[in-house]
Amino acid sequence: MKKGRSLAILQIIPKHHELLPVGLMKALSLLDALGHPYGFYDIERSPDPDFRSSLMHVLSGIKEDTVLVSMACHNNYPKIESLIFLYLYLPLLKDKKIIICSPYFSLYETSLIQRDNIVFSPLNIDEYILRHIGNPRLTEDAFFEGLGASLKRYGYEHYRFWEYLTFGCWANCSFCYNRLPFEGSPAITRHSPDRVLRWMRFAEKSGKTYFEFCEPNFISDRPFTEDFLARLQRENPGVTWRCKTRLDDIDPDIYGRMTAAGCRTIFFGVEHVDLSLLRRIRKGENSPKRLAEFLKYRRKETEIHLSFMMGIRGETPSALRRNLEVVLRVGAIEGVEPNIGWQILFNRRHRSPAAANYIVPFMFIMNFLPSQMEISPALMRDILQVCLREPFFDFWYMTEAEDSLALMQQLVTFLKSRPQQKVIRDYDRLLRYQGGDLTKLILKSRTLEQLNSSVLSMAGV
Ligand code: SF4
Repeated sequence: MKKGRSLAILQIIPKHHELLPVGLMKALSLLDALGHPYGFYDIERSPDPDFRSSLMHVLSGIKEDTVLVSMACHNNYPKIESLIFLYLYLPLLKDKKIIICSPYFSLYETSLIQRDNIVFSPLNIDEYILRHIGNPRLTEDAFFEGLGASLKRYGYEHYRFWEYLTFGCWANCSFCYNRLPFEGSPAITRHSPDRVLRWMRFAEKSGKTYFEFCEPNFISDRPFTEDFLARLQRENPGVTWRCKTRLDDIDPDIYGRMTAAGCRTIFFGVEHVDLSLLRRIRKGENSPKRLAEFLKYRRKETEIHLSFMMGIRGETPSALRRNLEVVLRVGAIEGVEPNIGWQILFNRRHRSPAAANYIVPFMFIMNFLPSQMEISPALMRDILQVCLREPFFDFWYMTEAEDSLALMQQLVTFLKSRPQQKVIRDYDRLLRYQGGDLTKLILKSRTLEQLNSSVLSMAGV
């Protein structure tokens, strides 16, 4: 790529879920070290709170001819914002050369958006710059030295630092997309403990008190994790931390080592209290029983984040109600924070027969876009239109719950009957959307067909 004033760096993921976009920071530092001019277009700096108009505004402001798109989201999971950008609004840049950087394209159906002006690079954005623009011999040491100033300059100083110790999981839950995406890739990979410790120390030097392990299962390789914990305790990098793990991988022994090494928050997937539904989603553990055991030996310094799930094939309204009641009960325990989501069928290989329910995209978008961003009817109209047009998007609106309308009615009725509860907040936006019109449609529809056609007509599709 020739040096010139024609390079734009585009960042389209708002808030990055408060986790530092490290690849992007490296890319910007590299360009600075090279003295390569560029324009930086960052949706996070947009004053417009509406996601769609913010994105449109950022895209229409790009002056440069070549746009390098950062898909350097914190953990490379398929981010909803990436899908919205790629499939709905990328055509707005038809007069530019677009280079989209992500090693995880196998998660997206890029053939659907391939155009002459678009290049898909399997490199992260910082690696792309090293390879194609030039190597300024920016050593890791120099990057760390300059990082504090870069964080301030680009407005990322409040973001959490994070790393992976491992990546992957030995379990095989049907709904999971938190695994390495390539056919034949190992189930679990190990990352460098030296590097992790370096980040933790740097976080502490930058004034952070908290660090995050982003892998789906922190104890996926127990001997490796135990060695790391021993080192962490010995070397004490000065930050406490959060991680996610399976309930049947944790026991009092490793939990003691984790807390001694600074662990203060643990995220567990419980999903459902109904064991037959857990079997159906191949959870592979009796998670409610495991949770009850864990809560007995939990120390009060440990915060617990829990995820629950609805919309599973075979789920009945009464099973959903029991699950919701348990969510409320555990949420009343001090230091326990549950959430409940509708099952998204992202993993096609494990999908059961499914039916359309156009409330699912509303749940999906409202739960995944950062709460600070507004969701306009125009965005939902665009999304529903692409759902109808493009079969790839069926994961946005298909559900394997046979009685999804009755489940949604149960959810809405349950929440409306407990207006004082403060535990389940995941559907506040849905209940309020369009002054409550969406909830009215859910409650008054007699059939799924009726619900679907009312939702489409309300959205103007
Ligand atoms: S335990 Fe968690 S990370 Fe492992 S397969 Fe199941 S959902 Fe995925």
